[in-house]
Amino acid sequence: MTKQAGFIYTPNFLNYQFTADHPFNHKRVLLTKELLEGQSTLTTEDLIIPRIAADEELSLFHDTVYIEAVKRAGSGSLKADRAQEYGLGTEDTPIFSNMHQAASQLVGGTLTAVEKILNGNYKKIANIGGGLHHGFQRKASGFCIYNDCAIAIKYLRKQEDLKVLYVDTDAHHGDGVQAGFYDDPNVCTFSIHETGRYLFPGTGNVNERGIKSGHGYSFNLPIDAFTEDDSFLELYETALRKIAAFFKPDIIVTQNGADSHCLDPLTHLCGTMKIYERIPLLAAEIADTYCEGRWLAVGGGGYDMWRVVPRAWAQVWNVMKTGTYCKGPLPEQWLEKWQKEAPVTLPSSWQDGAEIQPNIPRRAEITEKNKLLLEDMLKYTAVI
Ligand SMILES: [Zn+2]
Repeated sequence: MTKQAGFIYTPNFLNYQFTADHPFNHKRVLLTKELLEGQSTLTTEDLIIPRIAADEELSLFHDTVYIEAVKRAGSGSLKADRAQEYGLGTEDTPIFSNMHQAASQLVGGTLTAVEKILNGNYKKIANIGGGLHHGFQRKASGFCIYNDCAIAIKYLRKQEDLKVLYVDTDAHHGDGVQAGFYDDPNVCTFSIHETGRYLFPGTGNVNERGIKSGHGYSFNLPIDAFTEDDSFLELYETALRKIAAFFKPDIIVTQNGADSHCLDPLTHLCGTMKIYERIPLLAAEIADTYCEGRWLAVGGGGYDMWRVVPRAWAQVWNVMKTGTYCKGPLPEQWLEKWQKEAPVTLPSSWQDGAEIQPNIPRRAEITEKNKLLLEDMLKYTAVI
């Protein structure tokens, strides 16, 4: 029997921790899980305990020499100059004890999800512990060691001849995944992100369209800093519908970075919870229209771990499980438990109040610029 939705979780996800004060903090996954349990939209029957990824699975995307370097780094035996060569031991991606095991567990989560969708056990699965889209073939980057998204898509393609639509709504360009499938017409990647003019990783320009037979299967919308909900959603929805109609995927993989919110400390976009309600609804619609319901959702960035990420990621699951997002007050027991630890006042409702949105003096100009960007992106492609 096929279950509609499953939620991947293990407390081992929390072992992926660079330093105590690093902005990437996977306590976000626990906060999200407990928020959902408090809301009673997540129950023990929904939970799937993931396996850990094997080395040969990591090597579906990563070079063996890089995997060995990560192992040595995590056991303290990689020299500093060698580490730098692989993007390890940088300010963004510091070395920590047993980093290979911790990173392999996140990949194992996403692989467990893919496996269970492929063998027909589940239609839709969320692994919010995954989404490490900046990992490259032989280089760590932007808090990402192993790229679970790219590994899972390689795995999926190896098992079955399915067309994969990868959709990345993280505020940063999904560069590692794009690079992994840049010449592959069976994997279509679409990333909407803050322009790389001032933000890491600097790529994701509208003219990055793919190469060789993959030309025309890579899509990028590098939107302006300070883009707010209406412009974001207008672009995103129009583009996604057109891309899906053009590509007709067999499965959709979404990366749900939650760093496009106006409270996020690392980026300059001005979204509110509205975008995190609409994004999963659209994913579910595409999955049901083209993919017989098959949808794998992973997490990603998101650095306001108290006020933004748990609600944003919880809505992905709420839509998967119930078909819609939650409204109204957050569960009291969750607020009581975590307010003691949170350095900021936790929001009391699933929705943001109007006061959260900052004044954006250039709003009309930004909206206009974004519209031209969408036209530009569509012009480059066979998408009408
Ligand atoms: Zn990000």
